[in-house]
Amino acid sequence: DAFIAKVSQAKALNAFLVETPDHAIAAATAADTAREAGETLKPLAGVPIGMKDLFCTKGVTTTAASHILEGFTPTYESTVSQNLWDAGAGMLGKLNMDQFAMGSSNETSAFGNVISPWKRNDGGNASLAPGGSSGGSSSAVAARLCPGATGTDTGGSIRQPAAFTGISGIKPTYGRCSRWGTIAFASSLDQAGPMARDVKDCAILLEAMAGFDAKDGTSLQLDVPKWEAGLSANLNGLRVGIPKEYRVDGMPEEIEALWQQGIDWLKDAGATIVEVSLPHTKYALPAYYIIAPAEASSNLARYDGVRYGIRDLPTGAGLQDMYAATRADGFGPEVKRRIMIGTYVLSAGFYDAYYTQAQKVRTLIARDFERAWETCDVLLTPTAPSAAFALGEKSADPIAMYLNDVFTVPSSLAGLPAMSVPGGLDKQGLPLGLQIIGKPLDEQGVLNAGLAIE
Ligand code: GLN
Repeated sequence: DAFIAKVSQAKALNAFLVETPDHAIAAATAADTAREAGETLKPLAGVPIGMKDLFCTKGVTTTAASHILEGFTPTYESTVSQNLWDAGAGMLGKLNMDQFAMGSSNETSAFGNVISPWKRNDGGNASLAPGGSSGGSSSAVAARLCPGATGTDTGGSIRQPAAFTGISGIKPTYGRCSRWGTIAFASSLDQAGPMARDVKDCAILLEAMAGFDAKDGTSLQLDVPKWEAGLSANLNGLRVGIPKEYRVDGMPEEIEALWQQGIDWLKDAGATIVEVSLPHTKYALPAYYIIAPAEASSNLARYDGVRYGIRDLPTGAGLQDMYAATRADGFGPEVKRRIMIGTYVLSAGFYDAYYTQAQKVRTLIARDFERAWETCDVLLTPTAPSAAFALGEKSADPIAMYLNDVFTVPSSLAGLPAMSVPGGLDKQGLPLGLQIIGKPLDEQGVLNAGLAIE
């Protein structure tokens, strides 16, 4: 009841696109009934969570924050959300996000930007971006509208918003969480994961969300480890790598200082620190902004006005006109930009120059990490090169916006587990995040290093 009331009182944040109090109440009632009957409670019995609007939820509008999907009500449930309900959780509502998960500030939503509950302490009253694309999730958890939320991360969309709002979020190894029923952005990169107040809550939520699913061809056929039970902040024997290429030019001193602080905390917990080199890091961002739009341009071809959402059919118009009118009206400017970049880099004349090159770079980046694992077990970096920026500050300059993903994109290209945990506050009183990147399938190592920091 407290969370339902909070959600309805916090409309100014614009974090929720749809509220589903009945869903949350049903889960809480089921938990009460089970408790009264003396049954063993499910791991998330009665816990109310927020669902990013990228997850299809049966009977509940799902739009990916795009006008083109307005009014779309799935007839099926995504595997990740079903897993959560099977674990006893209930849904408070669907969370706002960047349109089709494309963005780093939540400003590309067709339903208005989300506002971060944080404010700078300089007396200014600028509204701050909650990060993106999972900006509804980060804002809702940070404002305590829900104890946890789902996010998705293609190039940083769980970690960067978590860093901007002082919460924790983990993107597991690619293939841990099923992508079935999750609206696709870039299929070779998309991964679901939890966003919550602390590392332990992330471990509990991820355990419920993950698991093999025959309906997703890239789902890993592995048991879900007991991450919560395995939590330990004793890092004796752990080797933490510090990648020197992440010391980028122009990085604010405060981020440098935060990084050093993180190093000291991990040392105090028993870890040893080694410097490592990931020489292809500077090519990760350009490779990502070729590969992700290429896959998006293919995935978004299905929104044609025939099968889902809106249909614009000018009088006397033919099929092609209907496609054009629906897409022109339905997709936002950033989505159109990605589709155009994607179709361009996949076109016969430019495929080798861009797409093939980017795929080669992706392999080199994955090899950089493989080489690093010869001398370390996890990597520690800042999550983002800045604290939360003001709404509107970067929205006119796509490159400036893309540059905010510089530290999160490499591990996405390599499919590695990576987490952001709160590291401290900057001079303006805004949260800064530290990122831990792990070996494939070593979510436990990532969570434990995160625990030592928090
Ligand atoms: N900000 C990145 C982008 O716009 C990452 C988004 C994401 O991870 N979904 O593509």
